[in-house]
Amino acid sequence: MEVKGSSDSSLSNQRLLGRVALVTGGASGIGEGIVRLFHKHGAKVCIADIQDELGQRVCESLGDDQSAYFIHCDVTAEADISQAVDFAVQKFGTLDILVNNAGLVGTTYTDIRDCDLSVFDNVLDVNVKGVFLGMKHAARIMIPLKKGSIVSMSSAASVIAGLAPHAYTASKHAIPGLTKNVAAELGQHGIRVNCVSPYAVATGMGLSHLSEDQRNDDAIADFHAYFGKFANLQGVDLLVQDVANAVLFLASDEARYISGHNLMVDGGFSCVNHSLKVFRS
Ligand code: NAD
Repeated sequence: MEVKGSSDSSLSNQRLLGRVALVTGGASGIGEGIVRLFHKHGAKVCIADIQDELGQRVCESLGDDQSAYFIHCDVTAEADISQAVDFAVQKFGTLDILVNNAGLVGTTYTDIRDCDLSVFDNVLDVNVKGVFLGMKHAARIMIPLKKGSIVSMSSAASVIAGLAPHAYTASKHAIPGLTKNVAAELGQHGIRVNCVSPYAVATGMGLSHLSEDQRNDDAIADFHAYFGKFANLQGVDLLVQDVANAVLFLASDEARYISGHNLMVDGGFSCVNHSLKVFRS
């Protein structure tokens, strides 16, 4: 039986055909993976990032059919976010999907007595204020259209402590809260608002303790071996593609009745007891 208003998108390899998406932090890492997957599924994509050269290069690699554009955007600056949203609408006529992916760790784990307030402010600015501004300006376009999907990138550190520095953990806890509050307001306009919370992924952020030339295949294998030891799900490495797939799901019509949700992409890491290990053989 066909459900009115639903599309059988699960059978399609073009699950975002004709949709317009803006992806912050789309020039590298998880954001780049999201851009590539969205584009493969038929979306027109705008990348909003501070890394101009990388962002332009990703767009060029997607072909010359004007289905992908880059705009310089610092998500902490309201004028930049506002301009990026307007840019997507100007290029493609509308905005269906916003992915608030830009984020940073800011520092390695630091004793709270040594935490620098300017680092704390910077992390909260990018990871929380940036997401808030994205939601605010996407809503400006989506409310009159009575549809839209906003997906923000949180982290396993949104629900569990001791994984990351204080500022990062605080910022990632804020994202599900903001997501739920904005979902509560925008539901009446047919707009869905969700977030995604991955475990460790070997991106520039994941490997940020290494220099560029140290980020080789061996470093990635070491990264997976290290985080694999602490993972719940064994025999599987978490890849950019896995996170991008979760974002694609939430952005697409397959998730048409899902809103206010924090989708954990952590292989069960955040819901298991890591101390007693009663099930470990
Ligand atoms: P990354 O460093 O590889 O990519 C982050 C991107 O955000 C970069 O392209 C960067 O230029 C951009 N960016 C940073 N500050 C910005 C700003 N002010 N304005 C616009 N763009 C900005 O990191 P990643 O691992 O791909 O992280 C993407 C998201 O996933 C982040 O929100 C991060 O917190 C989250 N996340 C990452 C991991 C992980 O292990 N890598 C785990 C959980 C969640």
